[in-house]
Amino acid sequence: MHRSIATVSLSGTLRQKLEAVSAAGFGGIELFESDFVNFKGSAGELGRIAADLGLSIDLYQPFRDFEGMPEAQFRRSLERAERKFDLMEAMGAPMMLCCSNTSPLAIDDPALAAAQLHELAERAARRNLRVGFEALAWGRFTSLYGQAWNIVREADHPNLGLILDSFHTLSLKDDPAGIARIPGDKIFFLQMADAPLLSMDVLQWARHHRSFPGQGDLAVVGFFEQVLRAGYTGPLSLEIFNDIFRETPNRRTAVDAMRSLLYLESEAQQRLAAAADTAAVPVPLQRVELFNPPPVPALSGLSFIEFAADESSAGMLGALLGQLGFRRVGRHRSKAVVLYRQGEINLIVNAQPDSFARSRFDAHGTSVCALGVRCADPLAAVDRATAMRSQRHDSPVGPNELRVPAIVAPGGNLIHFVSEALGANGLYEADFILEEDADDAGGAGLTQIDHVALGLAVDQLDTWVLFTRAVLGLEPGESLELADPFGLIRSRGVADAARSVRLVLNVSLSQRTRTARTLSVTGGGAVHHIALRCEDIFESVERLRTAGTRFVPISGNYYDDLATRIDLDPALLARMRAAGVLFDRSPAGDYLHIYTESIEGGLFFELAQRTAGYDAYGALNAPARMASQAQE
Ligand code: MG
Ligand code: MG
Repeated sequence: MHRSIATVSLSGTLRQKLEAVSAAGFGGIELFESDFVNFKGSAGELGRIAADLGLSIDLYQPFRDFEGMPEAQFRRSLERAERKFDLMEAMGAPMMLCCSNTSPLAIDDPALAAAQLHELAERAARRNLRVGFEALAWGRFTSLYGQAWNIVREADHPNLGLILDSFHTLSLKDDPAGIARIPGDKIFFLQMADAPLLSMDVLQWARHHRSFPGQGDLAVVGFFEQVLRAGYTGPLSLEIFNDIFRETPNRRTAVDAMRSLLYLESEAQQRLAAAADTAAVPVPLQRVELFNPPPVPALSGLSFIEFAADESSAGMLGALLGQLGFRRVGRHRSKAVVLYRQGEINLIVNAQPDSFARSRFDAHGTSVCALGVRCADPLAAVDRATAMRSQRHDSPVGPNELRVPAIVAPGGNLIHFVSEALGANGLYEADFILEEDADDAGGAGLTQIDHVALGLAVDQLDTWVLFTRAVLGLEPGESLELADPFGLIRSRGVADAARSVRLVLNVSLSQRTRTARTLSVTGGGAVHHIALRCEDIFESVERLRTAGTRFVPISGNYYDDLATRIDLDPALLARMRAAGVLFDRSPAGDYLHIYTESIEGGLFFELAQRTAGYDAYGALNAPARMASQAQE
């Protein structure tokens, strides 16, 4: 499809926006009028700049408060339209967006609206231009696409068509199913936007909180599917009003934008193909070719976590891992890299002075630089990732070492894809020289990586939600707000369908929280804590305390309160109180967990015991940890 984006969706000057959009591979733009009004140059010059960058100006927008007006205002608006048509001709924009009237002067008369839009289309036709009519969710008398379509049909002019915007339809919970019955060639333009579910005034929601498809909670794929079923062949465009995107570096926003459209196309493609397979009667299929990348990888667990450390912090981290029951099983064949293991948990400490990690992070102290995920077909996973506009990464490989395909995650961490055919620990046996007494005797009952929590800068959360969804096939869970004593943390888990890989994305809305301070050390996109699974948390905690591990102390008031909230066995409550273990319960299961004290750089570990049905991260207990850390 021809992919386009509204200039309002990005930060920067108009020229910078066009350069970012072009670099990300878009074919066109929707020109937002205020971008042009403040542009230093003529319409003709803008048209030439866009053409030089390989961009068409697909739409000029918005033209407001036009239809259904008293005669005098209508005549003045026609003159106003002529001046806009002059500009559109000069810059080479073939279509104007006319959005439904919000003026107090508007008259509730669809026939009048149709007649006036017919006249506007007639004026446009004289110049070989077109007009698209869009229902705004807050339009005075036209707020639904069905109403806008009735007016367009009634107006009956070849140069007048309908503009659809997923936000306006889905924010009002209107059913998009009727779109498929509109003739595809009367849909002139398609604007896609997602948004988080918020209960607020729809105008405020629309102007400040839209997001790219795949970043929010709206049923955007189903909406797009209906438009394709109508036989639509025009541009697929993004129109995103978002306060944070207005600040985010526009090159990153443009890549996110392109990734969101590729994701949207690939999801719709799959749905249509599945519907065609199962339908008893033939399904009318789309008339355009949709992006069809390799499928999302089937993941089967986190294989390893790699830390970047300098020489002294590598020693300290090694000692801490020893306390946590990990044993040193080997050193790398060719690099200053040591492998620690417990159960199926593999932790790699990389003290290689010239490593990728060090060059990216200038590692003072310790930070995570790479994650390994297990999957059936690593090369197909990398192909999926590069198709979705992620960068692949090839590390230098020494003799007798395995090449592990990798990609660069937003912020610079690496994600390696490890073949599950190698078994739980297979990769490492090949790349490491194993040390002698590497038996499991000293372990503390930690069996696998439960989840990895990242601390992200505010403008990285949407980027990460889309990246993990489109590239890794992880679905986002509920978005929670947690209280740190010095500000709010927004937290969102993402996980694969089998729940074998879980990441928790945390954003600090304040500069003063511990999460934010971790970010200032690492520059964002950093692992903030690592949760390790155990089967008997009390047994594991006891062994770790004996070995010298220090845990974040929890207030006795927490346990008094817990007993009032949840009906618990008094013996279990007493055990938790004595051990400092936190508790959460969902209808389907329980979660018991505890946090270690932080190491240099702010990183810490969590021990977690979950019953199968529990599908979250004990996030409601995070304030207990944060308050305790603040009182130290
Ligand atoms: Mg719109
Ligand atoms: Mg956690």
